[in-house]
Amino acid sequence: MPRFEYAPAPESRAIVDIAPSYGLFIGGESVPPVDGGVLKSVNPASEEVLAEVGQAGPADVDRAVRAARTAYREVWGPMPGRERAKFLFRIARIIAERSRELAVLESLDNGKPIRESRDTDLPLVAAHFFYYAGWADKLGYAGFGPDPRPLGVAGQVIPWNFPLLMLAWKVAPALACGNTVVLKPAETTPLSALRFAEICQQADLPPGVVNIITGAGATGAALVEHPDVDKVAFTGSTAVGRSIARAVAGTRKRTTLELGGKAANIVFEDAPLDQAVEGIVNGIFFNQGHVCCAGSRLLVQESVYDELLAALKRRMATLRVGDPLDKNTDIGAINSSAQLERIRTLSEIGRQEGALPWSPPCQLPDRGFWFAPTIFTGVSQAHRIAREEIFGPVLSVLTFRTPAEAVAKANNTPYGLSAGIWTEKGSRVLAIADQLKAGVVWANTFNRFDPTSPFGGYRESGYGREGGRHGLEAYLA
Ligand code: NAD
Repeated sequence: MPRFEYAPAPESRAIVDIAPSYGLFIGGESVPPVDGGVLKSVNPASEEVLAEVGQAGPADVDRAVRAARTAYREVWGPMPGRERAKFLFRIARIIAERSRELAVLESLDNGKPIRESRDTDLPLVAAHFFYYAGWADKLGYAGFGPDPRPLGVAGQVIPWNFPLLMLAWKVAPALACGNTVVLKPAETTPLSALRFAEICQQADLPPGVVNIITGAGATGAALVEHPDVDKVAFTGSTAVGRSIARAVAGTRKRTTLELGGKAANIVFEDAPLDQAVEGIVNGIFFNQGHVCCAGSRLLVQESVYDELLAALKRRMATLRVGDPLDKNTDIGAINSSAQLERIRTLSEIGRQEGALPWSPPCQLPDRGFWFAPTIFTGVSQAHRIAREEIFGPVLSVLTFRTPAEAVAKANNTPYGLSAGIWTEKGSRVLAIADQLKAGVVWANTFNRFDPTSPFGGYRESGYGREGGRHGLEAYLA
């Protein structure tokens, strides 16, 4: 059989205008940072500098929180829910209309394949705003008392793996409930949040309801520590989550933390194996594995181990790594050189500890940050690659003999964000799901998201829920 090669199918970047520099979005307008610091945002697939963005210092954070407070007191807090809903619906529609532009911008700044930003991120971003727009005038019926009140000013800090989607998870419920926000995107992916600021202007959102301040960890710390912030919402690493929990301890601030994970994806011998292979690939290689709920620990029942592994390797050999803007690309660029270094270090530790790495033959581009999809076999539960979050396209494969052993191994982690079960028996799905200590359990699928469904973790994966009716609770008194 001849093997057909794909011709390049690049998405045009002409739809996106990127300015050479951006200020902070405070009080409805773009303003330069007080101390004048800047950060460069780089395209991880080419190392090209895309734009410079302002670095907000404590004085800028203060200015943004004051703008949010004024907007909360004078406009957004007193506004009836049905009026707030109109703004949210408008934002949702503009996002849907501008989704191609936003998808291209997201892929440029983040390195994720255009297929994913176009078909997964952007539809979910719009869906979140539509969903929470629908709640804005029905909060009295959400199960939190007849007249739930907003909290006030929300300080929100998000990571780089789903820049616009994490913004939507934070901003949509906060605004629907009547809060105003100051949001800090990650330092390596600020551009789609700044484009969202333009969308707020386009939607005529009252000034100060949404403020976007760019900067690195120090900006985030200044925001969560600001005394006039009522609510802190953070998504990111467990280490930073811990420092935020310490910073807010003893204050009146309400807090939700969405942190890391090391999910088990469990394949039983009665599972449809071809389908399971697709789920394993989606579970760990979607978004280069930069996914908090990634299925990064594969647990396979011993009787089907050889068959499953052979099928997984065959499938991995078809994955296309390369240009994120090519519509045929399955795996894009690693988001930053720092993240690439972390993936390399942990993989090297895996090798030194005695696990066996395997990657399909694939040619990585010369420029940019890349890591070939990799599986480690011969992994034991004590290995660091079985315990620590690698946050990259690296899968650790372990085996089990009985369902009880699968459950014990799956739960043997400090995290508890998600898990997957592959079996043809519905009764087994229910029995195993009941015993797994994870916020989300997927059955015969993986990495499925929906705005109506709550998402969040146990243990070191954080606390609080985002999404669904549950997600409203975090923003209501
Ligand atoms: P990170 O914790 O380093 O950074 C996250 C954000 O926090 C960034 O905006 C960063 O600038 C900011 N920050 C850094 N130090 C800070 C401080 N001291 N105070 C306040 N803010 C600070 O994480 P990351 O590397 O950007 O993201 C990867 C992590 O995020 C992974 O561990 C992943 O599992 C997690 N994550 C979790 C979820 C979830 O929903 N549970 C979703 C996506 C990502």
